[in-house]
Amino acid sequence: MLRKFLLSLSLLSVSAVFAEPVKVMTSFSILGDITRQIGGDKVEVAEIVKPNQDMHIYRITPQDAKRLKNSQLILLNGKGFESNEFVKAAKAANVPVVLASDKIQSIQHDDNDEHHHEHEHEHEHKHEDKHAHHHHGGDDPHVWQDPVLMKQYTQNIADALIQIDPANKDYYSGSLKKYQQKLDDLDALAKKSFAAIPVEKRKVLTSHDSFAYFGARYQIKFLAPQGVSEESEPSAKQMAEIIRTVKRENIRAVFVENISNPKLLNRLTKEAGVSVTGKLYSDALPENGGYVDMMKHNIETLSGAMK
Ligand SMILES: [Zn+2]
Repeated sequence: MLRKFLLSLSLLSVSAVFAEPVKVMTSFSILGDITRQIGGDKVEVAEIVKPNQDMHIYRITPQDAKRLKNSQLILLNGKGFESNEFVKAAKAANVPVVLASDKIQSIQHDDNDEHHHEHEHEHEHKHEDKHAHHHHGGDDPHVWQDPVLMKQYTQNIADALIQIDPANKDYYSGSLKKYQQKLDDLDALAKKSFAAIPVEKRKVLTSHDSFAYFGARYQIKFLAPQGVSEESEPSAKQMAEIIRTVKRENIRAVFVENISNPKLLNRLTKEAGVSVTGKLYSDALPENGGYVDMMKHNIETLSGAMK
């Protein structure tokens, strides 16, 4: 009698645990999307920093700390992408915290790159506030820009889901495999798209300091001279430096989304002979579309612009 009671009690608790999808909190939109793709209807995924929002300026709020606490699993990118404050709040939630970039070899930030040596005093402080994870040296966190490295990243996500919900192991393993096929397809698309462009023409000027992994994988040189930043328009002097760089390096692909002043854009076209079009996605998804769409967009936009 007692045995029967205990048995039904344990069955009850098993179904109580697994009838509901696992509540997973992720730090940003790219990680959120990928976790949804792998977890399907077995998980309920939310993200702290939404599509089109900027992790660099995000500050953790009491509501978000509470959302972290109410989850069953927290996924972070790691490698310094999330602020110390963010990591602290995640640890305080008392649920498992997993770093999706675990076991991925880091590229180190080059702290002496070209856009640091001029005007250092004027800009250093501003940069450190907003782009903390870009300018402190150490590990570069933007591993998601390399679809090949994302095979380990997605493996880490699937492992974390299996750990917390072993009953659905086969489901997670199956969707991981399907997703990794998409990563292979992305890599093949990138290789094919860039193969037609000679290595000496694979140069891009951009305001995002986020493409080191992408550049390393596909032999593309990303330059960000002083004045090309995500927060403000360049001064006339900085514009001259941008034009000098474009001419010196013979760059065709220029992405300067921070410049909206038509006069400055005209100058760039007239003096450097480049037309400025398109947008690259670096640290957040667009409003519509997931990680795979974002990468396809970047690959197509970049290969089109470098031709
Ligand atoms: Zn970034």
